[in-house]
Parts: sequence; C-alpha cells; structure tokens
Amino acid sequence: MKFRIWTTLLLVTIAQVAWGQTSTNPKLLNAEATSPKPSVNSYTVLGATSEQEALVRAQIRIMQPDVYPLRVLFVPHWKYVDTARVFRLHVPSGYTSAMFTHLPSRSVFIDSDRYVSDDSLGYWVAHELGHLAANSASENAADKAAREYRKRLKDAPKPDVH
Ligand SMILES: [Zn+2]
Repeated sequence: MKFRIWTTLLLVTIAQVAWGQTSTNPKLLNAEATSPKPSVNSYTVLGATSEQEALVRAQIRIMQPDVYPLRVLFVPHWKYVDTARVFRLHVPSGYTSAMFTHLPSRSVFIDSDRYVSDDSLGYWVAHELGHLAANSASENAADKAAREYRKRLKDAPKPDVH
C-alpha cells in the first residue's frame, strides 16, 4: 500500500513537471528559444548522493548526448521495480536491468541498490541516452546510439568529481 502511494506521488510529480514545461511562461520560452544548445545542467538529478550526482553529470557532459534527459532519478530497488511495473515496462531480472528510461517524460530511473561501479554507471547511462536519442524503446537502436557515447566516455580523461 505504502509503495503504491509513493509511486502515485512520483507519477503525479512527473506529470506536473512535464505539464509545467509545456505551459506558456514567456520568460521560460524566451530562455529556451535564445539558448543555442540545451544546457548540460538543465536536467534534474534526484535521490543521488552528491558523489553520484557529480559523477553522472560529468559522464553525461562528456557523452554530449543528442537528447538530454529531463531528470535522472536514483531510486531504491523496490521503488525501481514498482515504478517499472506502473509504467508497464518489462524489466528482465539480472544485473543489466539496473536502469530504464521512460521516454514520454524523458526520465531515466537508476536502481541505486544495484549501483556497482562508476564505470558501469557510465556504460549503462550511455544505453539510456541512446534510447532518448533514438526516441525508441528498441534495445538495438539504443545500443547503436550508445556506441558513440561510450567511445566519448572511454576517450575522455576520468572525470574529477572529488
Ligand atoms: Zn534499453
């Protein structure tokens, strides 16, 4: 019951944020229209430790994705599973399902209980950014787009987030 309430709140929050972004605030629209590129800091990171947030931001900055997420949410495993279920996403069991992307809200969910290492974080975030770039739920399309991002990550000096 408690889980359900939390997820409902989360979805309501996402809906409100998404709605807010399409509402006509002239100031906001102006800022968006005049900005040449989406800002690397224009997305929200929620639920992460300060180290995780600094790292994921540094990795996304290096990958320069074609489409930025609107938010990156680090959630405990039970919330992750429940949210996936509410979104009717099939999350296969096993390590590779440590994150998923909800395309309509451009939200990347990361299972913080499966956070293993900095390198694997970047590797799988690249895959999720691939889903956003391809605007597709197809794993092949995501991996194809992720290839370039992973290359940029590999070629870049390790981000200094300390
Ligand atoms: Zn995928």
